[in-house]
Amino acid sequence: MCDECEGTAVHRRDVMKWAVGAAVLAAGSFASPAFANAEADFAITPEEALARLREGNAAFVADAGACAANLASLREELAEGQHPYASIVTCADSRVSSELIFGGATLGDLFTSRNAGNVVDTAVLGTLEYGAAHLKSPLIVVMGHTKCGAIGAACEVVANGTDLGGAVAKMVQPILPVALSIGASDPDLVSKTVLANARKGVQTIMEDSATIAALVAEGKVRVLAAVYDITTGVVTFDDAA
Ligand SMILES: [Zn+2]
Repeated sequence: MCDECEGTAVHRRDVMKWAVGAAVLAAGSFASPAFANAEADFAITPEEALARLREGNAAFVADAGACAANLASLREELAEGQHPYASIVTCADSRVSSELIFGGATLGDLFTSRNAGNVVDTAVLGTLEYGAAHLKSPLIVVMGHTKCGAIGAACEVVANGTDLGGAVAKMVQPILPVALSIGASDPDLVSKTVLANARKGVQTIMEDSATIAALVAEGKVRVLAAVYDITTGVVTFDDAA
């Protein structure tokens, strides 16, 4: 923790307490495979979660210098406009925070779209087009991650016919053909589907966005897949594509 953080309202022990709570929540929600711990109770109440968000935001407003240099001046500067250096499509998983993963990226650096399973749907595609065409973000990374619960759930459907139910079942539908292409009996089905799903995201962007495809053809934008290892912290870019 940097010196600037020592005087903030967000104390180390609180961060650790929150981290433990978040880990318990993560285990109870998108734990792979297919909501294995779905019967576990919530670790904290919505009110407690909201209070933590309010406290964290209050600390950010009161002392924006905490843990990143000059956030207050950056905030002021960026109010005039943003020029993010990369657009990241990644999972909603709480362990996959782009600004932390990419070496202390800060306000204004990353144009980020997140959903469980990092699916490139219409909303994500429109977001990326805006980022590339209007904000001039030159790099688009579709980043899956190891031990992805959403990918694990889709693989459960393919391998075992599991009925996920509700909106979750609809959400994972775009991932099902990807898992099927790997093969339901493949022992590495989940990890292979993670990479293949990220590559499919790249393919979707190139095929469904004429705007981005044109920028790629001009050499102004590059689109590639990547996988983040939640254990080691390493991002492996799919450079060969
Ligand atoms: Zn995930």
